[in-house]
Amino acid sequence: MDHNRRDEPGMSPKIAPADAASRRAAKPAIVYPVGTMPRPDLAALEQARHTMVKTHELIVPARDARTFRVARGQFFRIVSIEGPQVGDLNLWNADDLSERFFSGKTRAIHGTHVGAGDRLWSNMPYLRPMATISHDTLGWYGFDEDGGGIHDVIGTRCDPYTNLMLNGGSYDFCCHSNLSRALAAELKMEPRAVEHHVHDVLNVFMCTGFTKDTHQYFMKASPVRPGDFIEFSAEIDLLGALSACPGGDCSATHSSDAAECHPLKIEIFEPDRAVLKGWTWSSPSAYHRRHGAHAGS
Ligand SMILES: [Zn+2]
Repeated sequence: MDHNRRDEPGMSPKIAPADAASRRAAKPAIVYPVGTMPRPDLAALEQARHTMVKTHELIVPARDARTFRVARGQFFRIVSIEGPQVGDLNLWNADDLSERFFSGKTRAIHGTHVGAGDRLWSNMPYLRPMATISHDTLGWYGFDEDGGGIHDVIGTRCDPYTNLMLNGGSYDFCCHSNLSRALAAELKMEPRAVEHHVHDVLNVFMCTGFTKDTHQYFMKASPVRPGDFIEFSAEIDLLGALSACPGGDCSATHSSDAAECHPLKIEIFEPDRAVLKGWTWSSPSAYHRRHGAHAGS
């Protein structure tokens, strides 16, 4: 790995302008101040989760993926079983696959890693909460000395195309392929016909950050242990897909069968609906979508 790629001659000017220090001293401004965001009623959510009853569960085998459906108002958990394992999560509107999880905007709104109280937003033109994180047993982790945190929205998913480009081999059980296969089974189609629906993921239980020197994406061993879970409240009817990454705990490698891998469990819960009576369900953005065309007409 070349950590000094930005210092190679000819790549960029090395002599800073005279006012470089003052340019660098500009104060950061939070792009989306949390105080201006509509906040979910976490007290109501907490009350609802105390009434919930498990209605369904399924196992996602190691190096494979499964789909699941969650109705609006239900809760779902991704649970660590057997051993440390990272999961790659995709979410779609159950009635319209063109509405799907928008990792980039979720990152811009909530930060590089998400936790309890944060929401998973959908793409434009919908841009609404698809799910709210209602509980996270790894909330204690915060950020470590390396700058690593849990449940990131900064990476994407391991995939056979990048693996072929960097390593020269064809590996069929990357998260992108697992998610494509699972969605294909759900839709009774071929993986190649549905893989364009697979999108940037929420990296569940994964410990990631950017290196302090080169700002490169890194991963390190996930602190997740059997019994840990992250729990979501569904804000719309959802089709989900979860891949148990071939990277296992993502301490060293992925995109091969080298890492020790474990299954993950998905649990779905029905709360007492009366508790959520006052809940404001998310609607697609009210923006008019004219985008400035025919202004004034
Ligand atoms: Zn993966």
